[in-house]
Amino acid sequence: MNQRKNFILVNEEFICEKCNEKNPVLKGSCRNHCRKCLFSKHVDDEVPGDRKSSCNGLMEPIEVDKTGKKGYILIHKCIKCGKIMKNKVANDDDFDQIVRLATRKQL
Ligand SMILES: [Zn+2]
Ligand SMILES: [Zn+2]
Repeated sequence: MNQRKNFILVNEEFICEKCNEKNPVLKGSCRNHCRKCLFSKHVDDEVPGDRKSSCNGLMEPIEVDKTGKKGYILIHKCIKCGKIMKNKVANDDDFDQIVRLATRKQL
């Protein structure tokens, strides 16, 4: 029997593999990256939440896109396979980290 859960809307508590921060369930949205170090994990293939990727590599936040109208977008790159994913910033993400990432390029 296949015991893997199959759902698109993923909203579950998780421990960050990068910094060990315990990330609680995010109400009204789904969290796909750590609120403290902003690292994500490569578990989705094409659709966010599809959990179809077998890569499981850590995804490093490499850039912040501030040009969108829907707020900041985090751009993650998988350390293992190099895949790029875009993710919306959550409202309890560490804002200092986001600012640091956003300003890094202009230094
Ligand atoms: Zn973390
Ligand atoms: Zn990957």
